Amino acid sequence: MDSRATRAEISTLALKNNISAIKRLIGASKLCIVLKANAYGHGLGAFALLTQPWADSFAVATVNEGVKLRDSGVTAPILVLSPHLQEEIPALIRYKLTPLISHGEYIAAYAEAAQKEGLPLNLHLKIDTGMGRMGVRPEGALSLAKKISASPYLKIGGLCTHFANADEIEGAESVRLQFEIFNTVKQNLASEGIIPPFIHTANTGATLLHPQTHCDMVRVGLGVYGYFEAQKSPLTPILSLKSKVMLSKTIKAGDKVSYGHTWTAKKDTQIGIVPAGYGDGYSRLLSNRGQVLIEGKLYPIIGRVCMDQTIVDITGLHKPLEKDVLLYGDHPVLNASTLAKTAGLSSYEVLTTLAERVPRIYKDN
Ligand SMILES: *Cc1c(COP(=O)(O)O)cnc(C)c1O
Repeated sequence: MDSRATRAEISTLALKNNISAIKRLIGASKLCIVLKANAYGHGLGAFALLTQPWADSFAVATVNEGVKLRDSGVTAPILVLSPHLQEEIPALIRYKLTPLISHGEYIAAYAEAAQKEGLPLNLHLKIDTGMGRMGVRPEGALSLAKKISASPYLKIGGLCTHFANADEIEGAESVRLQFEIFNTVKQNLASEGIIPPFIHTANTGATLLHPQTHCDMVRVGLGVYGYFEAQKSPLTPILSLKSKVMLSKTIKAGDKVSYGHTWTAKKDTQIGIVPAGYGDGYSRLLSNRGQVLIEGKLYPIIGRVCMDQTIVDITGLHKPLEKDVLLYGDHPVLNASTLAKTAGLSSYEVLTTLAERVPRIYKDN
């Protein structure tokens, strides 16, 4: 076990419970676990191997992440969600990664590389039904699908889209509209004999709020890690970022704390130094605003969060040295979501910015 004071503890029990809850919701639909950005900060390879027994497939953002998963021993299908360069095509094929396709410019290059490697390339056709990001516009879908189908080396393995407003209850009408556009495209393709075997549209928000969008497979990221903001959910955060008090001292009224001297003691104050900062992924936006939990009690952060250290007003805490500090985790007022609100960030940002240098420790409970 890593003995560093600052570490991220990941509960495999909570993880299993989250996956079971999601599986109960989706019934017969398949589960694609989204592992982009280092598994939302949870550690890419180890996390993939841990969840592989329950995942029908995985999704990453980049070719590189996909290659890392293969190198870690992942055998399940891997979707590459973000655009890739033409020069990454041979790696895509060699590592049996499945790109989403939004335009026809690389079709010849895909086919040539697939022929060279002697492996057919599976592509999922992505439709921009209103997200305004990746995907071919609905009116261009049929012609792109026909171009792909014309090559003996390429196969349309799936048809997908992504919702812009699935994460909020107020987004229901927007989701309904996008889903309707998607279904029209699906029917247009079907009427020309193009029937992709995997239809998928839902992220965490749509999986929880809009069951009609589950289709053949859901792509769930945030929910697996235990977060969903819009309503009470059956999910629990699986990662706790913890550290320890490594120095305690009493400062006098009028004394100032940390860079820029943005905090001044109004009275004699016992301060504690916690060796975690924005270099670990604990946002500087929590300066003078955040809180930490020590022995079940909240203590305020004072002064600026530094790269490697954060200062806390621990007045009244008895024998603080090496006491455990929770920065965020499975706690009603101190989780990635509440922290994000305090800092003006999203829970996605809080999780994905957890730094490489923080050891991830997997626990059975
Ligand atoms: C990130 C992403 C997801 C997963 O989103 P969550 O809200 O984390 O579940 C699904 N689909 C696409 C295309 C994505 O980029």
